[in-house]
Amino acid sequence: MGQLDEHKFEAAIASCTKCDFKAFEVSAYLDRQLSVLAAKSQNNGQWTYDEAKFFDGVFRIQCIGCQTMAFDSPDCPRCNRAGGLADTGTMSRLVAPMRCPECQGAELKLMCFAPATVKAVEHQRAAPTPMALFGDEGYHVAHIACETCEWQQTAEGCPLCGGSGPLRTRP
Ligand SMILES: [Zn+2]
Ligand SMILES: [Zn+2]
Ligand SMILES: [Zn+2]
Repeated sequence: MGQLDEHKFEAAIASCTKCDFKAFEVSAYLDRQLSVLAAKSQNNGQWTYDEAKFFDGVFRIQCIGCQTMAFDSPDCPRCNRAGGLADTGTMSRLVAPMRCPECQGAELKLMCFAPATVKAVEHQRAAPTPMALFGDEGYHVAHIACETCEWQQTAEGCPLCGGSGPLRTRP
């Protein structure tokens, strides 16, 4: 489990403890799936997280009224390494090859973690706004699979912070 679950998340966004505002900006790393051709993205991909994984990836919740933090964790949101969040702003450590090393296919499917912000107003969450695109700093590839054959590659250690792990179990 991450730092937050649904119960703790809803409690954090209920009302600002300082100004009573009920609108928050939530920062999270969220699961995103992407198809690439010769290591170039074909589109912006799609979010693939479910409810539990959304709460799991949250590392900051800030009041939009007065900027007070309702939740603020310096730890990596994927492996929980203490202070690990500071190491998540790098380029992806796992990089998609131009072609599959097994079959030379150029079409690969990537499972990624993308930084995003989500506005939450009176418990209603808007669609996430991506804070980075594929190839940017902070956009991390966790897993690569060939669309043509069985070849796969998984990031070593934590795909977000580069820590040696182990990765914690996700909900
Ligand atoms: Zn406030
Ligand atoms: Zn980590
Ligand atoms: Zn292949």
